[in-house]
Amino acid sequence: MKPLLTAAMLAWAATAVAVASSVPAPPTAGTASDFRLAGDMTQGGVLRGTAPAGTIDLRLDGQPVPVDADGRYLIAFDRDAAPQTRLTARLSDGRLIDRPLMIAPRAWRLERINAPMRPTRNSQAFMAIRMPELERIAAARAMATDARGWRQTFIWPRRGRISGLFGAQRIYQGTPGAYHSGVDVAGATGEPIVAPADGVVILAADKPFTLEGNLLMIDHGHGLDSAFLHLSRIDVKPGEKVRQGQTIGAIGATGRATGPHLHWSMKWHDARIDPMLLAGAMPDGS
Ligand SMILES: [Zn+2]
Repeated sequence: MKPLLTAAMLAWAATAVAVASSVPAPPTAGTASDFRLAGDMTQGGVLRGTAPAGTIDLRLDGQPVPVDADGRYLIAFDRDAAPQTRLTARLSDGRLIDRPLMIAPRAWRLERINAPMRPTRNSQAFMAIRMPELERIAAARAMATDARGWRQTFIWPRRGRISGLFGAQRIYQGTPGAYHSGVDVAGATGEPIVAPADGVVILAADKPFTLEGNLLMIDHGHGLDSAFLHLSRIDVKPGEKVRQGQTIGAIGATGRATGPHLHWSMKWHDARIDPMLLAGAMPDGS
């Protein structure tokens, strides 16, 4: 039985037409807007889109970008991404659609310290422990899973006061230190954290890493992954599938941490991205 068109449906259709007609015409003949990008075209930002119909190969700055059967894809820009890149689609009829992308710079929080940067002296004993840890992280990141969380609207793994911003950096008498690779959420030891999106566990530390402490990493598919640092406990195992909102561990202060908090960092391939741009503003009442 066919549903009857209701007034509400007709009103929706009229709105859709109005929205479509208000989109400015693209500068070049009708193809450049076909990437249908939505998100933050900024340093540390993430964009999701739908490739032009007939796309057989999509590239960002020459690097292949996977495209789902329905045309959906994700791209992201490193914290220090150059101001311009390009997205190129090759179509089955041989046409090439090329779109330059202008990446807006961010005003990162910089803190000037009137003291010299402390030299990092990594003893042989430290490196003997650290190198295998770095190898485990690299091996985890190299894993590709069929997780589909990258398509979802991300949620905060823990609600709370944001105590450290992604990208923040200390400058020691003119010499920049390493920037903050994630976002920090204040909390008490033992408070549960949840998966911000569906994924597959690619690393669950069995004992604390020297810097990250109890480290949990989740792959969200299409090269996007999350890392949760300093946990007091981890509730999931490597290879396990997790659902958005599922409890995966708890806040702690393991590894190099001055107090209990959640450090959440995200990467898209080698690009470090700002989790706050995916999860949005922290909900009220946190
Ligand atoms: Zn942090």
